[in-house]
Amino acid sequence: MIKLKFIKSQKGKNMLVYNGFLYCKHEVYENKIVGRCSDYKKIACKSRCHTTSEDESGEIIKHTDHSHTQNAAKSEAKELINEIKKSAENGQFPTRIIISTKLGEASASVINWPTSYY
Ligand SMILES: [Zn+2]
Repeated sequence: MIKLKFIKSQKGKNMLVYNGFLYCKHEVYENKIVGRCSDYKKIACKSRCHTTSEDESGEIIKHTDHSHTQNAAKSEAKELINEIKKSAENGQFPTRIIISTKLGEASASVINWPTSYY
């Protein structure tokens, strides 16, 4: 059985990671949790993901299609890497310092994102 994966949002809430998309807890029922795509507010994606519980032992019941393919954490991670490269090229600070500073500014979703998604 595949365990559900969760990461912490910037506000410290658990977000479900599934198929490269992020879901925020939206509705809680007696026997299921409905997660809503984290891009709902930004681009009004209506995708939902139903799970049997809100921890790792839960299972996916069903999920609906997204109106997009891109995910925010992935693009944010790309931006971050670009910024690190740019700062390193300036030669003002050692790369090691730049990376630790930039990672400190990045959201939790980027830092916790599985490396296979980069
Ligand atoms: Zn979506």
